[in-house]
Amino acid sequence: MSQTSPEFSLIDHYFRNLTATRADVPEGIGNDCAILSVPAGCELAVSIDTLVEGVHFFADVPPQSLGHKALAVGLSDLAAVGATPSWFTLALTLPEIDSDWLAAFSAGLGELAKQHNIQLVGGDTTRGPLSISIQVHGFVPAGQAISRSTAKPGDVIYVSGTLGDAGAALKIALQQLDASVLSNNDHVDLLNRLQQPTPRNAIGQKLLGLASAAIDVSDGLAADLGHILQQSQLGAELNVDALPLSPALQKFDSHTAQTLALFSGDDYELCFTVPASKTSQVEDLFGYAVTAIGMLVEGEGIRVEHPQTGWQLLESTRAGYDHFS
Ligand code: ADP
Ligand code: MG
Repeated sequence: MSQTSPEFSLIDHYFRNLTATRADVPEGIGNDCAILSVPAGCELAVSIDTLVEGVHFFADVPPQSLGHKALAVGLSDLAAVGATPSWFTLALTLPEIDSDWLAAFSAGLGELAKQHNIQLVGGDTTRGPLSISIQVHGFVPAGQAISRSTAKPGDVIYVSGTLGDAGAALKIALQQLDASVLSNNDHVDLLNRLQQPTPRNAIGQKLLGLASAAIDVSDGLAADLGHILQQSQLGAELNVDALPLSPALQKFDSHTAQTLALFSGDDYELCFTVPASKTSQVEDLFGYAVTAIGMLVEGEGIRVEHPQTGWQLLESTRAGYDHFS
C-alpha cells in the first residue's frame, strides 16, 4: 500500500513505535530496506513463520493473542539455536483495515517484543484473507549455534516447562476431549498455553556451549525429538512417567495426559540433549524449569519401557502408542 493512503497512516500509527529502538538499527520502518548492524564475531540466525486463519488459528482467537503468538513462534526458533533475538519484520495480509483489531494485535505483539528486546524494522501490508508472517533475526557467536545433528550416545534428553497443554486445549475446542474433569481455571490455563505460548529464550541462550543438540517442540515431542534422532543418527530411550505435566493435564487419566505430551504440538517448549558430564550444570542453571526425560542411545527411533515386555519402539502415530499401552 502506498505511503500516502489512509491505510498506510494506520499501519504507520500502529507499528512505527511499537517496539524498543535498538542502537543496531541505523534505518528501520520507513525506508525501502531496513539497515541493520550485525555485531563482529556473530552470525545471524533467521527464521520465518506464517499463521493463516482457519489453518493455524480459529477466527475467534482474540487479536491480542494472535499478535503474541505470531512473534512467540519465531522467538522459539531463535531459542532452539541459542540465538539472542534482535529484529523482526512483519508481513500482514488483512481482509479490511479494522482499527480495533490493529490496536489489539499490535498491543499483544508489542508487549512480547519489548520483553525480548526485539525491534520491528519493516514489513509489508496487503489486502486478502487474514494471514500473518513474521521473520525473526537474532545473533549467535560465530560457529556456536546449536544444531539438531550433533547429539551423542549417552547424552541426557531434557524438556523445558510442561508438555501437552496446548494440544489438550485444541482438542477441547474441537470437542475431541472431554473437559469435564477440569476446573474453569484449568481450562483457562490450557487455553493460554495454546493462544499465548511462552518462548523459552532465556533457557535457549544459556544452552550455548552446554547442549549437544536442541529443537523447539512445535509439532509434538515424538516428532521433534525424532528430528534430532534422525539428524544425529541415534535412538532414544524415553521415560514416559517422567514427562512433565501441568496440574491441569494431570487431571486427565495418565494415558490421555502422556499421549498428549508425546504427540500434540504447539507447546513451544525446548527439547535439548546434554552430555552426562554436564548435567549438574543443567540442574544448577535451570532447576525445576527443565526435566530429564530419557537418554540417547545407538540405533534409531524412540523406545519406551513397558512393564511386561520391556523396551518397545514408540510408533510415530497415536495408534502406535495405544498399541504400546
Ligand atoms: P515499498 O513499497 O517500498 O515496498 P511499503 O509501502 O510496502 O514499501 O512500506 C513502506 C514502509 O513501511 C517500509 O519501510 C516497510 O518496511 C514498512 N511497513 C509496511 N508494512 C509494514 C508492517 N506491516 N509492519 C511494519 N512495517 C511495515
Ligand atoms: Mg520500496
